[in-house]
Amino acid sequence: MPTDAQLTDDEYRKLRETITSAIWDELDPLEQRIEDEERIPYDIVLPVLRRCGAFGLLVPRRFGGSGLSIARYLPIIAEFAKIQGGIRVLVHVHNSFAHALSEIGDPAQQAALLPGAATGERSLAFALTEPDHGSGADLGTVARRDGDGYVLDGRKWLITNSDIASHFMVFAKTAPGAVSALLVERGAPGLTIEPLPETMGCKGGEHGLLTLDGVRVAAPALVGREGQGQEHLERALEISRVFIAASSLGTAERSLELSLRHAQSRVTFGRPIAERQAVQRYLAEMAIDVYALRGMLADAAAKWDAGGRIPAESSMVKQFGLEAVGRVTDRALLVHGGIGYTRRHPVERLYRDARLNWLEEGTPTIQYLVTARELVAGYAFADAFDGAA
Ligand SMILES: Cc1cc2nc3c(=O)[nH]c(=O)nc-3n(C[C@H](O)[C@H](O)[C@H](O)COP(=O)(O)OP(=O)(O)OC[C@H]3O[C@@H](n4cnc5c(N)ncnc54)[C@H](O)[C@@H]3O)c2cc1C
Repeated sequence: MPTDAQLTDDEYRKLRETITSAIWDELDPLEQRIEDEERIPYDIVLPVLRRCGAFGLLVPRRFGGSGLSIARYLPIIAEFAKIQGGIRVLVHVHNSFAHALSEIGDPAQQAALLPGAATGERSLAFALTEPDHGSGADLGTVARRDGDGYVLDGRKWLITNSDIASHFMVFAKTAPGAVSALLVERGAPGLTIEPLPETMGCKGGEHGLLTLDGVRVAAPALVGREGQGQEHLERALEISRVFIAASSLGTAERSLELSLRHAQSRVTFGRPIAERQAVQRYLAEMAIDVYALRGMLADAAAKWDAGGRIPAESSMVKQFGLEAVGRVTDRALLVHGGIGYTRRHPVERLYRDARLNWLEEGTPTIQYLVTARELVAGYAFADAFDGAA
């Protein structure tokens, strides 16, 4: 696969500055509106995301994206995880899919989809989860060979960006035990998309129900080879789990920052609560989680960027990240007292938003399963800590 030159440090710094200002000056002010209306105002949000380059972060430069390394992408998705969660999810799913396609798509699929993905003209979604079956080899959606193409039947749900996606990467069985990935265009005859009820946190986006009723796609819609879907899935989820861990980091960092500020300004019994040892312990515990998560993320990113596979690391950091953000957002509520429980305070939202991190890219039992599988298969904890990052 051809590789592109990386952005220079200066170009990367400018991109970070542009995105950071878009996040805080243009997107963060929409928080209450999105939380109240439970809808992302796409007419405002999509142009901002397009303008600041948020859709092309992981798209290779030859297709018009920024082609960031994972180490450079993680701080950006972490920054998105500090503001209203529905926006973070939209950006995450799009970039994750674009990254997967840039790794597993064939040249024709990449040329057809990635330039539009880089600008955000094309919006992408990932359709794996089903109402009637488990994920992976248990899938109930089938893709039958039919002449020079496939016919798909089945149901998918909780599919993020289902209201805006131009294309869905649908995982379906092409033979007993064989999973394949196929690209289905929005508007394909036989594809219907219905909204599902609003979520607890990360509000405003749509995570809809897709019904595929005899949806016909041509052979070039197949991603990779027939039966290669499980392999694709594992590769895509491996790095996407690291993205979720980075999202946990961003939410935890914001919760800590707000808690520290609140503890220094809230005075009870004549002293700021930050001077009370019991409150200091909450703050210190939050900082420990943030610090540990940063270290794990740096290690996972460095290994991936060096060309390694990281199934164990990605599941471990994803699991640690959700536990860490769970503890940190819980302590943020404790530090804030009653006001933190009200709808007008960001820690209430951060607490709800964080909860999605338990589900995205697999639940905890799946992360334990992958980590243990790798350990039993000989994952090298033997290459002991040598002091290097
Ligand atoms: C807001 C939101 C957005 C989402 N976006 C997407 C998306 O864009 N695309 C997509 O495909 N999916 C998406 N999902 C779905 C999400 O990835 C799944 O909900 C999640 O992976 C859990 O799968 P499930 O809902 O089928 O739960 P289940 O598989 O039914 O799990 C229920 C419980 O059983 C446990 N369990 C299930 N099977 C096993 C097993 N074999 N061994 C041990 N324990 C097991 C689970 O850990 C869990 O505790 C989204 C979900 C939400 C809430």
